[in-house]
Amino acid sequence: MHFPVINMCPTEENIGKSFYAMQDGTRLRHWCLLAEIIDGFKEDGILMLEVRDAAREKCFVAFRDKNDQYGGHQFVDPDITSESRKMKGRKTIAILYPILRYDLPGNRKGFIIDDISNFTPIPHSIVELYDANDRLREVATECCLSGCSQKENLKACSVCYVVKYCGRDHQTKHWKVHKPECKANEALRWFTQRDWTHYDSKFSFP
Ligand SMILES: [Zn+2]
Ligand SMILES: [Zn+2]
Repeated sequence: MHFPVINMCPTEENIGKSFYAMQDGTRLRHWCLLAEIIDGFKEDGILMLEVRDAAREKCFVAFRDKNDQYGGHQFVDPDITSESRKMKGRKTIAILYPILRYDLPGNRKGFIIDDISNFTPIPHSIVELYDANDRLREVATECCLSGCSQKENLKACSVCYVVKYCGRDHQTKHWKVHKPECKANEALRWFTQRDWTHYDSKFSFP
């Protein structure tokens, strides 16, 4: 799974050849932005998130309802702002089909979310998720406990299926190290189980 950064997302003026068919504007593929919340605030009653991508580029996210009214607090967990302050960049958001615009409130650059099924918070840092994304591409060929190089009769972790062990003993020994990774692997499973290269119909977060 390849996650575009903010500046790789299509804009309204240049919808991006790899994302859309030029003739009729239909989507050619799926795409999703991962960004960490660095701040959340209300301005004139509008909830705004300031976010940062994996390239440390920043932008804003605003929420709009069906009547084109900014509001968003009815969509979003009201704790997301206070929580983001508490967690200091430990909370990532995923946005499906983001289109970069420059007309957010205050002429800010960023994304408008008007379909809440395109939005989900993920309780991991963006680094943890990118690391998990790399791991999910690899297939373990030996026991994952360092110092053990057993290659036969390996059993995969029954939660993430990414790491493998020669037996329960080494799995138990490695669990302290693997536990946070395992949770991040699990959080990315929804993404890696889908085919992003071909567009039939829209994905929605559960
Ligand atoms: Zn082992
Ligand atoms: Zn695991």
